[in-house]
Amino acid sequence: MYKPFGRILYGGDYNPNQWPKEVWEQDMEYFKDARINSATINVFSWAKIQPSEEEYYFDELDEIVDMLSKENYDIVMATSTGAMPSWMYRKYPEVGRVDYQGRRHKFGQRHNACPNSPVFQKYAKAIAEQLAKRYGSNPHVTCWHISNEYGGECYCENCEKAFRVWLKKKYGTIDAVNKAWNLEFWGHTVYDWDEIVAPNALGDGMENGTDTAFAGLSIDYRRFMSDSMLENFKMERDAVRPYVKDTPITTNLMGTYKFLDYFKWSKEMDIVSWDNYPSYNTPWSFTAMSHDLMRGLKDAPFMLMEQTPSQQNWQPYNSLKKPGQMRAQSLQTVAHGADTVQFFQLRRSIGGCEKFHGAVIGHVGHNNTRVFREVKQLGEELERLGTSILGAVNEAEVGIIFDWDNYWALEYTSGPTEDLTYVNQIHQYYKYFYDKNIGVNMIPFDADFSKYKIVVAPVLYMVKEGMKEALTEYVQNGGILITTFMSGLVDQSDNVYLGGYPGPLKELAGIWVEEIDALAPEQINTITFTDGTSTTCNLLCDLMHLEGAECLARYASNFYVDMPAITRNQYGKGYTYYFGTNMNKDGIAKVLEMAVQAANVAPVISEATGLEVTCRKAENCTYYFIFNFKDQVLPLPSCFDNCTDLLTGQIVTAGKMMKQYDTVLISMPN
Ligand SMILES: [Zn+2]
Repeated sequence: MYKPFGRILYGGDYNPNQWPKEVWEQDMEYFKDARINSATINVFSWAKIQPSEEEYYFDELDEIVDMLSKENYDIVMATSTGAMPSWMYRKYPEVGRVDYQGRRHKFGQRHNACPNSPVFQKYAKAIAEQLAKRYGSNPHVTCWHISNEYGGECYCENCEKAFRVWLKKKYGTIDAVNKAWNLEFWGHTVYDWDEIVAPNALGDGMENGTDTAFAGLSIDYRRFMSDSMLENFKMERDAVRPYVKDTPITTNLMGTYKFLDYFKWSKEMDIVSWDNYPSYNTPWSFTAMSHDLMRGLKDAPFMLMEQTPSQQNWQPYNSLKKPGQMRAQSLQTVAHGADTVQFFQLRRSIGGCEKFHGAVIGHVGHNNTRVFREVKQLGEELERLGTSILGAVNEAEVGIIFDWDNYWALEYTSGPTEDLTYVNQIHQYYKYFYDKNIGVNMIPFDADFSKYKIVVAPVLYMVKEGMKEALTEYVQNGGILITTFMSGLVDQSDNVYLGGYPGPLKELAGIWVEEIDALAPEQINTITFTDGTSTTCNLLCDLMHLEGAECLARYASNFYVDMPAITRNQYGKGYTYYFGTNMNKDGIAKVLEMAVQAANVAPVISEATGLEVTCRKAENCTYYFIFNFKDQVLPLPSCFDNCTDLLTGQIVTAGKMMKQYDTVLISMPN
């Protein structure tokens, strides 16, 4: 079990440099009272610690580190390169990014460095090394945090040149590039590497930024940009490493964030950390899925680097967290694999765009607040929970494939509908398992599928090299594969597989999709199952023929009435279910239920309940987290009667009713 920390880190981003010293002293008192034991510092302090090209100024940071060390904090030390100092822009304008419209940006914002600027690289590496030299041997610095929320993109000349180098390495010859991107189309053939142009609105990208004339080119640019920023991460990590021994090095990710291939990134990170900012209307199943994805990156416990204790400031409607909601949200994170609970931030700033972003200590300046009391309560409960949960694993019999290449490719595709969004599709299938309290691992395209009884691959549009063979072997040996419309269509360069859809999955699914109909938002169709029940469908309808599969449901209307819509194909010892259309929730549940029965997949507890029940297995016991995220009172399942709630220390009486956001944590011996 991977246990990088000696306790559950509880704390968050802290910027005492924005405050006079007397406030620091007061903060230490308040935070101790709330059982805060960790602080993430120096996230945006580059300008402060390097006021010019030649000067470093560490006095204030030394004082902060000393203060936190004396108080026995776990310090998460950031390298501060998430926002560049102004002098760097003034002297070297090339450090700024060029955007999709081709505009060179001036000083401003954050996440603003051109990843391929040698000047940025030089100074970022230097500051990371300086920090590591100075604080690397401090035993209280227990985690290194490179930069902050990497993201965005750059289309400058440095990037364009670096892209050509990246392509040369990948393809070898210019002919291979022409072939991969199918540049014969529109006569876009290139004869020299220097003719390759970054695909923004001035090149082959469409004006709207979401479409492209050549998806192969644009997908490669996304891969290249993700790799470029990953090189930035690796450069700082490698600068820090010699001074910090095996102290874990991370950077904070952002869940289903589109632009970076996090599965690739996670291979370079010691531990995954991420920032969880659900909106007022984000389904709890979506947050759970995001946690499972972040855990799935390394198939290991992760850090919750940021969440707000009360409200955000940057969403359209920044609702307050209701009493108990922050506690439930935090514990849901732990339930899905987090070994830390950290906030952004510990004290609310007085200016800048995040001045209304929630914090443990608000603008009133004292701790007599609802938010503080809730933070303190959770701190006490986590302290009571102790350390045996650290490293505990989330087990799952169901794997859902999540793949960033596929995410990019599917959403670049021009046609058949503009309403298809990758993450929402994945979530629809995840939600079924979530509602049933069936554990799910979010897995990469090249996972070991044999670990799972069911593998779900929704909208597996891009089938990359090796996947056909791996999925075939999986099903042949008794696995159950569930896939859907918009699957098996293109290779890794976005060129269509010839010979009929769904290309490499055709034999496995035992079907041939001849045409794909798109339904406008106001249009729906109905499908009828063989047992006579019906359900509605929308978005896309495959017109398919059975080539060995059995039909589970047929269309009830349109000119393709009676054609198969949902199928199942036995292949070797296993089965492939194919969803030819986007069914409503009940339809999806009906077919997934068949698969769950056939695969004998068990939920976390056998009792049906509207509560979330998630478990983590430690060395000697299993922890059951029970949440009520519904706006109605629900009974605690009877299997937990007379157990001790580890959060409160109280025995749970039979028939206990749970209100919204009530949370119970119970352990049972393995
Ligand atoms: Zn650039």
